[in-house]
Order: sequence, then C-alpha cells, then structure tokens
Amino acid sequence: MNFHRSNRIRYSPPRSICPAIINQYMNLSFLTHTWYGALLIVVVTGHLTIMCTSLYLHRAMTHSGVRLHPLASWPMRWWLWIFTGMNTREWVSVHRKHHAFVETDQDPHSPVIYGWAQILFLGVKYYRNAAADPETIEKYSKGCPDDVIERKLFIPHKFLGPIILLLIDLVIFSPILGFFVWAGQVLWVPFWAAGIVNGLGHTIGYRNYKVKDASRNIIPFGMLLSGEELHNNHHKFPSSSRFSQRWFEVDMGWWYIQLLRLVGLAKVEIVQHAAPNFKHAALAAKENAIERVHEAAVAAKEAASQAKTAVHVVTNAKLGPEY
Ligand SMILES: [Zn+2]
Ligand SMILES: [Zn+2]
Repeated sequence: MNFHRSNRIRYSPPRSICPAIINQYMNLSFLTHTWYGALLIVVVTGHLTIMCTSLYLHRAMTHSGVRLHPLASWPMRWWLWIFTGMNTREWVSVHRKHHAFVETDQDPHSPVIYGWAQILFLGVKYYRNAAADPETIEKYSKGCPDDVIERKLFIPHKFLGPIILLLIDLVIFSPILGFFVWAGQVLWVPFWAAGIVNGLGHTIGYRNYKVKDASRNIIPFGMLLSGEELHNNHHKFPSSSRFSQRWFEVDMGWWYIQLLRLVGLAKVEIVQHAAPNFKHAALAAKENAIERVHEAAVAAKEAASQAKTAVHVVTNAKLGPEY
C-alpha cells in the first residue's frame, strides 16, 4: 500500500515538454554504447584536436598572429599530448621550415616535390622525418615553451599521452568499440592535417592570390578543419590570425579566437587583409592554368625525347655495333 502511495506522489514531467525524442537524447549512454554515438565522439574530439593545432600550434606559436592566455594554451597543450603525442617545438619547427623552403627539396612535405599521393597518404612519415632532425629543431623552435612539463613529460614521453587515451577509451567504451574510437582519434591529425591540408592544400582547390608556392584553398568553408582549409590565404599572409579573406569564406578558427577574446583569453596580434576581387582571382587561376599546361608540355616533350632515345638504342642493338 505504501508503494502505491509513493508511486502516486513521484514527480513526472508533463508529456508536452518531454517528448520521446528528448527522452532518448537526454540519455547520453548512446554515445558510448552505439557505433554512431562513438563516431560522433571521434568527430567532435577530432575537431577539437584540429582546433588546438590551428589556434595554439599554428596561429599562436608558429606565426605569433594571436597571443593565448595560459588558461587557454595549457589545456590545448595537454589535449594535443593526449590525442596526438605531438609537442610544440617539433610541430612549430617543421611548419616554419615548410614556409621558409616551400616547394623546394628543403620543404619537409611539398606535394610538388614528393607527389600529392605521397603527402596525402604518408604525410605523417614526412613530418616525423623532419621532426627527427635536430638541426631543424635547433634552428626553427625559437619562442617555444621550455618549461618543466615540456622537458620532463611532453618531449621525452610523447607516446604516453595516446597510451593513456587508449586506456580511457577501453574503460569508457567496450574493448572493441574503444579501440576503434582510439584509432579514429589518433589518426585524425595524421589524415586531416598531415594528409589533407599538407597534401591537397598544395594540389587542389582555388587560389585567391598568386603566391610563389602552389598553395590552394581546398574549400571556402573552413569548418571541419578550423579554417586550415584556406591554405592559399594563409600562405599569402602567414602571420595573420584570420584565414578567411572573401565574404563567403568561413574560418571557424577565427570564430574560436573571437570567443576566447570575449572572455579575455586571447589577444589578436596580427590580421592582414587584401580583399581579392573576382577579376584578380580569375587572373591568378588563368596564370596558374597556363603554368600547369606549360609544365605538362615540358614533361610531354621530355618523355617523347626519352622514348626517341630508347627507340634509337633498341634499333642500334638490333642492327649491331657496325651500324
Ligand atoms: Zn603550406
Ligand atoms: Zn603556417
């Protein structure tokens, strides 16, 4: 009888404000118990990893376009260590060298030199090779943090972060799902940043500016990769903390910077802008197309010459040395 009484007085929200769909999504267990929930976790954490890479490693530390308060930069450093194993001085050094020697044989990851497929699929290998060169680190790491946490943990134990992440994922998810979530999280930057940005960002897309390198804006909507998609704009103005230049371009990293500014955690140091117009962009695209046609013609001429030499050698071999 008492049970009946207690059932009657138990609070239940009115049905009108608590439809079944809200009930379903308020129960967040779907995030850890279904494949689509796990995929959502991978995408959201991956996006945050790229955001930390773009804001902290790229715009703040490498190019000094924005200054981040320690309350913003510290969590980003920890996040990057856990999700990627990357440390500041290696990333900054490799990227500064990319800008200094872009599209030459000194460029650590130029698709023009090594081929786009190499950088798209094996970009992380090129990054690691460059990061392992002490001369590169010595020359290009000025201004990077050199505190005890960097020297004692982030640099000497770079793979400990992703191992901790694996243990956390195995506890939160089932062992199989946890492993796949972890794999998606740790492969996010090698694929999207080292592969897509470094590979396709110098291969496909449109150009607002004619610069000496082959950089391109992959798409105008920089939302998934925090604005890193706008790579041609970035090569034109490397120090600018804002990557978008045209009215329809979206730089999500810039939005994050504005949010941090609002709460006093970021100070914008440099914003550069030279509004490209359609005429300018069309001219740049035309010049670029002409360059490509010229390159293809030279390559074809060279191939024809080599083929001719090969035929000549074969003919001589058939006829004998006296001919
Ligand atoms: Zn580049
Ligand atoms: Zn850069």
